[in-house]
Amino acid sequence: MVKPFIPKLIYVEPRALEYPLGKELIAKFEHMGMEIRETTSHNQIRNLPGENHFQKYRNAKSTLVVGIRKTLKFDTSKPSAEYAIPFATGCMGHCHYCYLQTTMGSKPYIRTYVNVDEIFDAAEAYMKERAPELTRFEASCTSDIVGIDHLTHTLKKAIEFFGKSKYGKLRFVTKFEHVDHLLNAEHNGRTRFRFSINDDYIIKYFEPGTSRLNERINAAVKVAEAGYPLGFIVAPIYIHDDWKNGYHEMFEKLRSALPAFARKNLTFEMIQHRFTKPAKRVIQENYPMTKLELNEAKRKWKWGRYGIGKYVYTDKEQEEIKDTLGGYIQRYFPEAKLEYFT
Ligand code: SF4
Repeated sequence: MVKPFIPKLIYVEPRALEYPLGKELIAKFEHMGMEIRETTSHNQIRNLPGENHFQKYRNAKSTLVVGIRKTLKFDTSKPSAEYAIPFATGCMGHCHYCYLQTTMGSKPYIRTYVNVDEIFDAAEAYMKERAPELTRFEASCTSDIVGIDHLTHTLKKAIEFFGKSKYGKLRFVTKFEHVDHLLNAEHNGRTRFRFSINDDYIIKYFEPGTSRLNERINAAVKVAEAGYPLGFIVAPIYIHDDWKNGYHEMFEKLRSALPAFARKNLTFEMIQHRFTKPAKRVIQENYPMTKLELNEAKRKWKWGRYGIGKYVYTDKEQEEIKDTLGGYIQRYFPEAKLEYFT
């Protein structure tokens, strides 16, 4: 079992202390006896401990910065939602393939934003623009928000905020089992709580620092019992020796653990493994011993966002993935909705 995240080092932006959550968090961390340093900006943490890149990277992933979200313009978040809602950036997990390694570049430390009401106000404005159409907000585009929420309870506030909203819905995904404080949130069915799952081989070799499959499934059962709409993202779908059996076991486990009522109104999303050339460089620097297969010659090249090409599986492999995993979903979860494969 992975323990709930406790940072080793805290940074705080002085202005964060003007917000109730900022004050509360710093008082809590002082009480816990943690080292707290000041920083003028959450974008400029330069003096992290460590003698080389390897150590600094790992220390950064144990560092929490309490700051303010200045940009309140939300990014789009296709295909799972209209907008990404930014409560935090960064993650304490060590998934070898994680795209945050590239998007966060030299700033792998974790940031939590305390101006939550301002973020809600911005969300409200986006909802108004689209009303009466619903607007979906994705809270896990730049972090695994559940992983730090036992400290901040920001996500819990967000769940309750959207629980009261007329035109908004919230979604997020996690690889962590630390969901207990979220079970009594007044979600009113307006938050879809998703777990990222994978087969045992992938979790064992590529997802250190996250909850194991059984623990994620146990948490999913609790979430379903708390009445949340539930979903699973199978990602990244990765072809390895005996992958068909690995995924079969995963779906069998899920089927036998989920009570019948939880298998209704269930969603699945499927995302194949992909990488870009810059991501490959970063992965090999951060996790030099990784077994992750990153051979461009075995993949199909596809245009990606910002003109950076990505390497995905060949068309034949993609068809095989869709047929195999789609078949398991049909067999074990005939009432579920497969939202997309990408
Ligand atoms: Fe990245 Fe998610 Fe793993 Fe965190 S849990 S390192 S966000 S893939």
